[in-house]
Amino acid sequence: MLVLRAVKTSREFRTVEEIFQAVKRQLPAIGIATVYRNLEVLRERGEIFSFEGSDRIKRYAGFVFHAAVFTCQKCGKIEALAMKKLAETVERAAKGKTVFFSRLDVRGLCPDHSPRFQR
Ligand SMILES: [Zn+2]
Repeated sequence: MLVLRAVKTSREFRTVEEIFQAVKRQLPAIGIATVYRNLEVLRERGEIFSFEGSDRIKRYAGFVFHAAVFTCQKCGKIEALAMKKLAETVERAAKGKTVFFSRLDVRGLCPDHSPRFQR
């Protein structure tokens, strides 16, 4: 339950290590392997989801809304993009299906790695 709460209450995509640190504050005896095992069980049940950025690190989120996620191809930095019409657009396209989450995978270069001559 602590693992689920740590993921659900976060508005960010968190790594196993970050979730482990959050849970450990309330349950000092817990090990990272236990946290990982619980995350995978929750993911299999569809309560949370995970994905890997180009840095190959798995991150978890418990969002119940639509997410547009930007990944920098150079440094692997991941950032949620604010897209107001995304939920409406996806739900309209789904035509009556029940949607649990959607993810728009946006890849490119963050401002630090964008060539200066572009735009
Ligand atoms: Zn970058």
